[in-house]
Amino acid sequence: MEYRILEDHNVCKFVFTKQDMVAESVLYKYESYKKRTVICCSVQSGCKVGCTFCGTGKRFIRSLTSDEIVEQVKIVINNKVLNEIKNTNEIEKFQIMFMSMGEPFDNYYQVKEAIVKLNKLFPNAQLLISTVGLRKYKELNDFMKLSIEINKIGLQFSIHQANEEKRNKLIPYKNKLTLREIRDYGIEWSENTGRPVYLNYCIDGNNISDEEIKGYNTRIFDPAGQDTIGGGCGQLWFVQDWMKSYKKK
Ligand code: SF4
Repeated sequence: MEYRILEDHNVCKFVFTKQDMVAESVLYKYESYKKRTVICCSVQSGCKVGCTFCGTGKRFIRSLTSDEIVEQVKIVINNKVLNEIKNTNEIEKFQIMFMSMGEPFDNYYQVKEAIVKLNKLFPNAQLLISTVGLRKYKELNDFMKLSIEINKIGLQFSIHQANEEKRNKLIPYKNKLTLREIRDYGIEWSENTGRPVYLNYCIDGNNISDEEIKGYNTRIFDPAGQDTIGGGCGQLWFVQDWMKSYKKK
């Protein structure tokens, strides 16, 4: 897998390419890699979900294999993190997130394999799935079991709106859980694992009222950027151009 690195002060973006895919990973350093390291990796090249604010959702190229997901993390660590520390076991808070390009539950079984492999390679890393909540009951049941077996797994629902109608505008994909179903699954997941579920919010200018999200654990992301390193996934011009010009054989 070829790659290029874009670097800012505490953030590095890796763009991976093969003949038939492009994918991104982002590495965040909080104070130092030893204190807290976060890697967001891609699970698909492009995405079928098509969230209106997202550069990745404009086209779907293909799903990544578990090896391609794991390789992103290994390349990021070998390039940057291990320059500062000798062993990833030294990292006090180490988080690997499946939340860059692609929807994890649309490529669930490869993501599952990657989780199992990454848990063996980096036993101190939290492994966090971020999903819009696809209506895939078989996969959701399997994920519940996996999350009980591997206590490093975390779950975040990227709901972006706490109102069904507004959420449908941001995430037009039809085959997704309702907010009520997300709530029910989240409660069950939390009771079974003993860990909290998080809700992600992507700011679009209309959903920043505290009223709607009172009482929930939330994380807020700003998808600003086109060529800024802090921008959302798939927004780099290079990635946009690659996806537009790619012709499937
Ligand atoms: S935000 Fe995530 S789920 Fe939505 S289109 Fe982008 S990559 Fe897909």
